[in-house]
Order: sequence, then structure tokens, then C-alpha cells
Amino acid sequence: MGSPINDTEPPDYSAKRFRRMMSHAWKLKCPVCGERPMFVPWSQVRSLRDWFMPLDGCPRCGYPFEREPGYFLLSIFAINYGVGALLGVTIYLVLDFCLHLPIWLVLTLTIIPMPIFNVLFARHAKALFLAFDLFCDPHRGEDDGGDRPAESTAPPPKTPDWEPISKS
Ligand SMILES: [Zn+2]
Repeated sequence: MGSPINDTEPPDYSAKRFRRMMSHAWKLKCPVCGERPMFVPWSQVRSLRDWFMPLDGCPRCGYPFEREPGYFLLSIFAINYGVGALLGVTIYLVLDFCLHLPIWLVLTLTIIPMPIFNVLFARHAKALFLAFDLFCDPHRGEDDGGDRPAESTAPPPKTPDWEPISKS
């Protein structure tokens, strides 16, 4: 498992790396090392912010999850809403054209689950977006200064700090 910044080797765009990163993202783990979770564990969530905001960075490899302010906007609009809309349309078509249910029941069964799905899927949308972005745009130290991992010689903590990204 390498650091996101590696100036000596060309970027690895292999399908194997893509699958590995997406697998980590699907499990809500750091896309780089796959060892530590990206979010506060669900059992320790105390607020909506805990649920939606990723941690500052990976406690193990130091990879910063939010590369810049507003970084996760596209993940919400494109992935979360997109997948939700696709799912809603699919449910609607199945209920209306295959099961021939009355329209009030079709709309009820289509509309009510969507917000619930969007809340539950928001973390996955962010994790998948982060992994996809990192796969397509591997970090390089000279590209920009805002996405370097935290430079620390201290060993990673045994119990990670479960604080979501702090907003200034
Ligand atoms: Zn990591």
C-alpha cells in the first residue's frame, strides 16, 4: 500500500488498483491503505454532521479525505442523487408496468424510500467519489499544495480521533 504521493513512479491505472480502491470505498475505508474507516463509526454517531462528514484524514496513512473546500459536492449531486433518481425510476417502472399497482401506491412506494436511501447512501457516495477521484488523479507533490498528507513522524494512534472534518 503506497502513499498517494509518489514522484518517482508513473501513476498506476490498472483495473486491479481500481477494484481495490473501490472495494475499500464500498467498505467506507481509506482508499489508500484500506485500513482505517473514513467516517465516525455508526455506533458512535451523535449528530447529522458525524454521519455526513468524513474524518479529517486517515489516522494510519495520513491521507486527507477532503482535498479542498466543497470537494464532496459532486459526490452528493452526481453520485448520491444520481443513484437515488435511477433507483426511484426503476422502482416506479417495476411497480407501474410490471405489477400494475394503483398510481397512489406506486408514488407512495417510490417517493418515501428515496430520502431514506439518500441519507443512508451519502457516506458511500462520498467514499466512492473520493476513491474514483484519487484513481483518476493520483496525488503528486508538485501538482498542488493543498492535498499533501499530514507530515508526522508520530506513530498512528491506536484509537483514531473520531472528529469529522472541521469547518472554519
Ligand atoms: Zn489510509
